[in-house]
Amino acid sequence: MQIKPYWTDTRTPFSSAREGRVPARASVVVVGGGFTGLSAARTLAMRGIDTVLVEAGEVAAAASGRNGGHCNNGTASDLAGLAASLGLEEAKRLYGLYDSAVDFVEETVRGEAIDCDFVRNGKIKLAAKPSHVDGLKRAGEFLARHVEPDLVFLDRAALQGEVRSDAFHAGIVMPRGAQMHMGRFGVGLAEAAARHGAAIFDNAPATGIERLAGGRHRVTTPKGNVTADAVFLATGPSLQGPFRWIRRRTIPMGSFIVATEPLSETQVAATMTGRRNCVTSKNIGNYFRLTADNRLIFGGRARFALSDPASDAKSGAILRRALAKIFPALAEIGIDYTWGGVLDMTPDRLPRAGVHDGLHYAVGLSGHGAQFSGFIGDRMARLIAGEADANPLDGKAFKPIPGHIGPPWFLPFVGAWYRFLDWRS
Ligand SMILES: Cc1cc2nc3c(=O)[nH]c(=O)nc-3n(C[C@H](O)[C@H](O)[C@H](O)COP(=O)(O)OP(=O)(O)OC[C@H]3O[C@@H](n4cnc5c(N)ncnc54)[C@H](O)[C@@H]3O)c2cc1C
Repeated sequence: MQIKPYWTDTRTPFSSAREGRVPARASVVVVGGGFTGLSAARTLAMRGIDTVLVEAGEVAAAASGRNGGHCNNGTASDLAGLAASLGLEEAKRLYGLYDSAVDFVEETVRGEAIDCDFVRNGKIKLAAKPSHVDGLKRAGEFLARHVEPDLVFLDRAALQGEVRSDAFHAGIVMPRGAQMHMGRFGVGLAEAAARHGAAIFDNAPATGIERLAGGRHRVTTPKGNVTADAVFLATGPSLQGPFRWIRRRTIPMGSFIVATEPLSETQVAATMTGRRNCVTSKNIGNYFRLTADNRLIFGGRARFALSDPASDAKSGAILRRALAKIFPALAEIGIDYTWGGVLDMTPDRLPRAGVHDGLHYAVGLSGHGAQFSGFIGDRMARLIAGEADANPLDGKAFKPIPGHIGPPWFLPFVGAWYRFLDWRS
């Protein structure tokens, strides 16, 4: 078993990184080469804007190369809850943005001919306890009434045609979700941005940002300093660099995944007949899907810890046990890959994008950003290019989290609370 992501291990490496030092001047500097930053760089370059992207490590190798591979529509938290706190119209608008985001991914994949197995196979949410069935049914009815007219409710018997497991008691299918090979999408997006003219520098962490006269900024990197008219921060959880402002407002949280060896057709038929993106109803639940070559990518918040190789290995063992419980037919399946990654959570699980202190940013995608990242990167690029109304999240409050001034000391308590809620539900 390898402690690394399946997605980055099975992609062709990015071939168009610029060598040498960053240029001294650019119109726009994008900091961060995940899907958000790469998409912004692509849009800016397509408009003929002189763009430099600096990435601390490899492109699309942090959350964008370490995720579960689901590209689902819909918000991260449930629509009824959002409607209760924000009003129904705003909740529906936000939900609709995620539809636009999946559409944006699809258009980008087609427009740039990115070979990444993109398929609209839908998402299924699974009731993990008998007591969750009524709540799931009610949530499904609310979604169907307002935003998901084609949603289908499946009782325990009908569910067997989708997911063959005794662990689930009902399900709702939302057919507009998609999936793809995240590693190949990430490199395809980076190659496209470079082809359109963006200068992409990897292994070039931004270590300082200084405000200059005239609203310009100078970004410092080990490969030189670059002065720009606008800077876009697309740094995800911003674990490194001068981004205390973002770190005070987002919570870095680990999530972990295993990828099995390829399943035989018989094993697929005995487990994942529907080939959809599956998500369970527990707070500390699981998410899983098949790849084009029939591996089961099986993830979850196995532990409330950050990701590093030792932590990933421990979490992998927990996930393996969870997988065997859900699919006893796969109890002996080989695990080829184990990895973890860090999510950038906001307390309400809604992303944030805007301008602070003259710097543009889009962060806090809250574990539900494989689709939203590219979309919001494009929108922020359009804002920078002069489209005043381009940011659909303009004006959303982004407040510091009380008591969060360093490493997230409170994660074990959050984990204990969610475990308690799952036990009680
Ligand atoms: C384990 C896991 C599972 C997930 N599963 C799913 C899923 O199934 N579906 C879904 O929709 N979402 C999922 N997500 C979330 C999704 O992957 C992210 O929301 C999305 O990839 C965020 O993209 P991004 O570009 O904003 O951030 P990232 O991909 O994190 O990119 C940020 C980049 O900024 C760089 N950076 C940071 N600091 C600096 C600096 N100082 N200088 C230069 N560069 C810097 C980083 O190196 C990184 O490459 C998952 C995330 C994880 C971790």
